[in-house]
This record gives sequence, structure tokens and C-alpha cells, in this order.
Amino acid sequence: MKHIGDNMVDQTRELVALPIVPIIDESIIPEKGPSNDDPLEHQFPVVEMFHSIQGEGYHSGKASIFIRFGGCNLACSWCDTKFDEWENMTLREMIQNMEQWDCNRIILTGGEPALQDLKTLSSVLRPLGYLLTIETNGTIVIDEGLMDWICVSPKDQMYPSVKIRQIIGDELKVVWVGQDLSMYDELKNGFTYHFIQPCYDESKNIEWNGNNFRDTFELVKSNPEWSLSLQTHKWMGVD
Ligand code: SF4
Repeated sequence: MKHIGDNMVDQTRELVALPIVPIIDESIIPEKGPSNDDPLEHQFPVVEMFHSIQGEGYHSGKASIFIRFGGCNLACSWCDTKFDEWENMTLREMIQNMEQWDCNRIILTGGEPALQDLKTLSSVLRPLGYLLTIETNGTIVIDEGLMDWICVSPKDQMYPSVKIRQIIGDELKVVWVGQDLSMYDELKNGFTYHFIQPCYDESKNIEWNGNNFRDTFELVKSNPEWSLSLQTHKWMGVD
């Protein structure tokens, strides 16, 4: 396998510029909702729910319901998702809200959705016919059999001391900021599909983002076991 160092991409260009960020920010992790015998009354911190089209990764192009949960255990510098303000909703209210959309694909996202009570979500939503995908940073192990699709997007390129604990799943989606792909040699064995996605960093200028896109394109050409993932929803200007 070729690695980034084997081709023309300059791998040091931005790694040196990445800021040191806190690994765990406890202040933005919501408390779990009160336990309740009725799972429909279980409360979840919901930032937003919306019906859109998956813009990236394996299921790109498929209409889906997105549930964005509040809170994350990381604080990536490029993060463009708002997860620190949420409304507590019961699962019953969430289901009632979703009934407005003719769609059975749900993407659990955040923030870090693995912080939530996935057992309750799975036990209620799957019997209703919903297919559950989770997009996680991989730092929390997900109990087997709860999800229909697990997409891990590791952030250990930013946090060398963070351990990726969810080492099996369907899709490994790496946000590329210049790191050596060999760091995923072991991890990728646990996943069926492998994607590299150029980091689009709104805090950087057009030139930086353009160069990062071009370098990712070259990287995929020289590492064909990886596929290119683009955030097509951003081009369309939709969520
Ligand atoms: S893990 Fe994801 S949601 Fe959390 S800070 Fe990083 S990019 Fe944002």
C-alpha cells in the first residue's frame, strides 16, 4: 500500500499548524435524561431534527432524517456543528416529529451521539421500521446489534492520546488534514468501507481549503483502497 509519504502530497503542510485542543470538554456533555420505565418518556438532548439528504460517505444521496444530539466529548478545531444548545425531548415527541416525513432512514449524529442511551433508541425505533445509522467519533464502544450502520469518523489525527474504542463497523470515514494514512492500517481492518474526506475548515481561507481538496484527490488516486467522500450538502447549501 502506498502512503502519503510515497506521493507528491505535502503531508507536513498543515499538521504543524493544528492547534492543541482540549481532549474532553465535560461542560458540553449533557446529563442523561432521567431513567423512566416507559422508554417513550425517556428524554434526549436534541439540538435539531431535520429531513435532508445524506451528503457524505457510503449513503451519500439518500434521503434521511437527521437527529442531532447535544454534547460532545471532543472539541475539534474545524467543528462546524452546533451541539452546545439543545432542547430536552421525550422519545415520544421525537417520533411524533418524525412522522411528518415519509422516510425510514435515521442518522444519529451530534455532537457525539454515542453519549446517548442507544439501547432505548434502538429498542423503540427499529420495531417501528426505522433504520438506524450512527455517525460517531469512535471514542465510545457501541453495544453490538443496536445499530443498522456504524460510521466511525476518528479524530485521533487531532488527539494522539485519544483511543478509538469502536474498532468495528461498516464505514470508516477519515477527515484528512495531512496525516499519514498508515495510522489507520490496523483500524481499517474492522470496517467494510473506507473513505477519506477533505477537511473543509471555514476558519481557513479558500486557498487552504482548495489545496486540501486537491491533496485529498491525489491521496485517493494513490491509495485506491480508500474512496473519496465529499460533503456535497455543503455545495448545495443545505443541512
Ligand atoms: S467529534 Fe465531531 S462533533 Fe465532536 S467536536 Fe469533533 S467534529 Fe465536532
